Amino acid sequence: MSTGATPDGVGRWRLTADEVRGRAGRLRVLLTDVDGTLTDGGVYVSADGEALKRFSLRDGMGVERLRQVGVETVFVTRERSPIVTRRAEKLGVRAFEGVRDKAEALPEIRAALALAPDEGGLAYLGDDVNDAGIMALIAPRGLVGAPGDGFGEILEQAHYMTRAVAGHGAFREFAEALRIQVTAARGEGTKG
Ligand SMILES: [Mg+2]
Repeated sequence: MSTGATPDGVGRWRLTADEVRGRAGRLRVLLTDVDGTLTDGGVYVSADGEALKRFSLRDGMGVERLRQVGVETVFVTRERSPIVTRRAEKLGVRAFEGVRDKAEALPEIRAALALAPDEGGLAYLGDDVNDAGIMALIAPRGLVGAPGDGFGEILEQAHYMTRAVAGHGAFREFAEALRIQVTAARGEGTKG
């Protein structure tokens, strides 16, 4: 079976089938950026300064679907936002907020998640240049994805570029692509 690396790469893995399967079999945690990944990158600001972000319930279901196959989702964002905290609570996921340099923070994040100190066991979904460093660290042994409308150089870096755009199912699509591989790698039947 071929995962079919194509020139545009949309909706396909840019790794061999064996590479994807092997990495998925060791996958424990999907780290995801929030703004421009789980949201469309916009923020609604009222005259009172109250900010609102829009999340997709379908993406939320993706968190649940990965959890069913033993993969936890964790938010990693440079922003500090009560909205993000609330969304993480609702989904029952951990959130690392106010992370200025995600690549630098990776060892600390791994330790907090009780992951061995190498770059395996992780996937990452990110959309912009501040995700490039951490994606480069995770890419050699993990699986990295980007929303279809992510920033250009991130799309080039990603192993998987979603057809869906950020805030409108990009996370769900990546989660489902991972779930298929994790399930196959572990030889379990798909449920639900
Ligand atoms: Mg972002």
